[in-house]
Amino acid sequence: MAKFSHFGTVKDAAARLRKTLKPKYPVYIIRRKLKDGTGHCILHERTKHRPKRFDIVICKTLQENTAVLLLVHEWAHTLTWSEKPIHGPKWGVAYAKCWNMLVENDEWH
Ligand SMILES: [Zn+2]
Repeated sequence: MAKFSHFGTVKDAAARLRKTLKPKYPVYIIRRKLKDGTGHCILHERTKHRPKRFDIVICKTLQENTAVLLLVHEWAHTLTWSEKPIHGPKWGVAYAKCWNMLVENDEWH
């Protein structure tokens, strides 16, 4: 079985997601310390300096492997933003697509 580090970095995973599973608005990835030690996704309205965009915030103290798994979860939210329930079937399908993109080229079966 492959190690989770096989998934690479958050930066690499985000670059691949941007290419293949493009949300409606640009996605900014932000690493900072979060009290709950996890991650979240926010849709921001346009400001003077930045377009309407998603911010995916991932706790910076997490190991890279865990951070990549959170990124995949949050990316699925950017693809199904207005869907309710937020972790319903549409999110589940989007999550599967993101996951598949992450592992499609590896040899872990
Ligand atoms: Zn979620």
